Amino acid sequence: MSTTRTYCGMPRAAAAGTNATAFGWVDRRRDHGGLIFLDLRDHTGILQVVIDPNEAPEAHRAAHEARLEWVLRVEGEIRLRAPENVNPKRETGEVELRASACTVLAIAKTPPFPVNEDTEVEEQLRLRHRYLDLRRTRLQRNLRVRARFCTELRRAMSEIGFLEIETPQLIRATPEGARDYLVPSRLFLGSFYALPQSPQLYKQLCMVAGFDRYFQLAHCMRDEDLRADRQPEFTQLDIEMSFVDEDDVFAALEHAIPSAWEACDFRGGRLTVPFPRITWREAMDRYGVDKPDTRFELLLNDLTDAVRGSGFRVFAEAVAGGAIVKGICVKGGDDLTRSDIEGHLTEIARAAKARGLAYIWKRADGWQGGIAKFFNAAELDAIGDATGAEVGDCVLMVADRPAVVGAALGALRNHLGRVRGLYDEDRVDMLWVTEFPMFERSEETGEIGAAHHPFTMVHVDDLELLESDPLSVRSRAYDLVVNGREIGSGSIRITDPEIQQRVLAALGIDAAEARRKFGFLLEAFEYGVPPHGGWAGGIDRMVMEGLGTENIRDVIAFPKNQQAQEPMTESPAPVDPAQLRELGLGILPTQRTP
Ligand code: ASP
Repeated sequence: MSTTRTYCGMPRAAAAGTNATAFGWVDRRRDHGGLIFLDLRDHTGILQVVIDPNEAPEAHRAAHEARLEWVLRVEGEIRLRAPENVNPKRETGEVELRASACTVLAIAKTPPFPVNEDTEVEEQLRLRHRYLDLRRTRLQRNLRVRARFCTELRRAMSEIGFLEIETPQLIRATPEGARDYLVPSRLFLGSFYALPQSPQLYKQLCMVAGFDRYFQLAHCMRDEDLRADRQPEFTQLDIEMSFVDEDDVFAALEHAIPSAWEACDFRGGRLTVPFPRITWREAMDRYGVDKPDTRFELLLNDLTDAVRGSGFRVFAEAVAGGAIVKGICVKGGDDLTRSDIEGHLTEIARAAKARGLAYIWKRADGWQGGIAKFFNAAELDAIGDATGAEVGDCVLMVADRPAVVGAALGALRNHLGRVRGLYDEDRVDMLWVTEFPMFERSEETGEIGAAHHPFTMVHVDDLELLESDPLSVRSRAYDLVVNGREIGSGSIRITDPEIQQRVLAALGIDAAEARRKFGFLLEAFEYGVPPHGGWAGGIDRMVMEGLGTENIRDVIAFPKNQQAQEPMTESPAPVDPAQLRELGLGILPTQRTP
């Protein structure tokens, strides 16, 4: 097959009269007894092939047999189509390949779903025959664009002096916070490797080693419950830099991500740099969430003082008990009905643990709504001033603990932004959220954990609070947020052993445990560690944002389903008992899955 290949999507009118050999799959076939018309498809497009029984009887016989998805080699001459046969919808629509020879390279069974159309097909079936799904136009495009994005990221990172260094896949578990995938060791029975949740400690060791600008498109594995934008394995752009502060890390990424974004012609066009920055505190106050969607306003406003002394007992008592009250002003919210608000909008607030959702409308004849009568004129003015409400607007309010108020109004804000079309779908807002809290308390266990990871540097102004008030300590951790979705996080790291020890103590990790879990890192730091910081961001999520798809499986060649299975290879799968014995493992009968 050493003939020069003509890709199906390439020939244009100028190629008329030249010979061509095309390879591809049968996309459609029209056999009228005489002439046979075949649409031959490869990843570049579709070429119409015409086979005349008189000109090429053998080719005609082959084409007569051919069915959808058969693989053919067709040789012939590119000809101009008659004007009435030109297909303006197809890039090759002015020409056709007049076959002199047609060879069947492979036959194909009838595919379980159409490959030649982008019809809705149940995802499990698509995953079962992923190779056919990938052959379809949409996933071909997605995966090709993803590859381009990765190539461009690599190019852009190298351009500014970053070195790609591979780190191991079989490692000792790192404290990244999620559950590990474990790999049993055959040589050390009872011992396990972990698959990396990220190359965190290795990249920090690269800094000690003097590779001052490291990056990797790193494959990471976390055994977590899956969501639409989460897979058990994913790829991240992972970076680490020495002798830097936040500005340097941001600048490197503000070079690489926009370059790759533009090369891929992603949604939103050229990204404006530098990306805006907002502190975590500001994000929580104004947007209610730590990953604000800044494409639209609808900000949260503090109404605690405005309603503190009001006759609306629910608010007054809540405030007296330490709660806060906040509100959002829905512009033109006059069209929100009582049942909209008391129905699905209240459900959204309740899902975020709020007890209820209060509302008032500002109408030409004054404030209205069941609770308006409990506020005096000055209080209503204060609510109006704080929220910027004008006639025709509706103010939605929640009273509760700050975390609940933020979560409820933040969720409502995102919902209303979407359903009321408050932003342009093609707009892409990237921003840095900085100064995340150092620690957070787990809702389930009540224990204090690292909000990012234990190697994250403490905000210098909060060092003295480490022991007395750890939950109010800010860190030097930052996230990159795109249109309300977190796509990556990083931090400036701790390199001072005393601070590291205090942070570990706040996390309840004593010296012995620290030595056991990551003593190698602490030891390495004793041999001259440069100050450093880094970041890692999901390639899958960035490509999703760039393409505007909501499903992470649309940008991964061979993803897992929602149960973390791969239906095509049927993994995970039981293994041969002999393999288990060799690893010194046995399966407890009660734990065997059906
Ligand atoms: N290792 C972190 C993560 O994977 C990123 C970082 O701190 O650089 O989220």
